[in-house]
Amino acid sequence: MSPMRIGIDFGGTKIEAVGLGADGAILARKRVPNPGAYDAAIDAVAGLVAFIESESGRTGAIGMGTPGSRSPRTGLMRNSNSTYLNGRRFGDDLEARLGRPVRLANDANCLALSEATDGAAAGAKVAFAIIIGTGCGGGLVVDGSLVEGVGGVAAEIGHIGLPWPSAEEAPGPKCWCGLHGCLETWVSGSGLQRDHLERTGQALDAPGIVAAARLGEAASVESLDRYVDRLGRAIAMVTNLVDPDVFVLGGGMSNVTELYERLPAVVERHAFSDQWAGRIAPAVWGDASGVRGAARLWAL
Ligand SMILES: [Zn+2]
Repeated sequence: MSPMRIGIDFGGTKIEAVGLGADGAILARKRVPNPGAYDAAIDAVAGLVAFIESESGRTGAIGMGTPGSRSPRTGLMRNSNSTYLNGRRFGDDLEARLGRPVRLANDANCLALSEATDGAAAGAKVAFAIIIGTGCGGGLVVDGSLVEGVGGVAAEIGHIGLPWPSAEEAPGPKCWCGLHGCLETWVSGSGLQRDHLERTGQALDAPGIVAAARLGEAASVESLDRYVDRLGRAIAMVTNLVDPDVFVLGGGMSNVTELYERLPAVVERHAFSDQWAGRIAPAVWGDASGVRGAARLWAL
């Protein structure tokens, strides 16, 4: 029987699991609500694994995408918006319950791994994924392998300051992480919403701003212009660090098609290069990147 990998996407409202065959085909899948409490969450994950294995008739290696990350130093979860995980030995407790190793990675790393394997960055030497949704995260894959870093914070682009800030962009809004002007406060969907509100007094959400900009409403056009310029600067900064072949965008803002037409000009203006050779593409697998990337934390 061919091997199977089990990918689990541990989301704030639901937990989803898939069994992935060696060829990437889905053998079984199930999603359950996130119970919102620690012991019940361990039970829910164990139940999903049992279901996937019974449906497929196979035993799988288990990878999980989590909000936040596990500190390599302490083994404790941190920065998770499922706050009941923070400070807990989630990985160790899952391993004890399931009787086998469990690999954990954050959602942006799962997106990067999924898209670099068989998505928008398939075959890329260096792939960089950016989630631009409620928050902002990043993931880096080189030669098909995830780069996590010695402290587990590699590619955490959301909490780097906005590069090449103008006078009015400094020091920038206060971020929940304690710093000011983090990229998350500018290039997430919530960041666009906040910026638009501060400039115009209009409380529109990000899709509303994009829709108004498409209709030519002047203030929204300007807000979207500022957004594109800021995201383009972020991509240029990453280019100057690791010069990816492909940037893959995920999250709600990645559905804004104008980004793919307009970002390259901004990147070319800021990257330290006579000719920027990269490209920017939307994620192919969408929401399924979480489970698919988690499964791929294990090589078969
Ligand atoms: Zn921050």
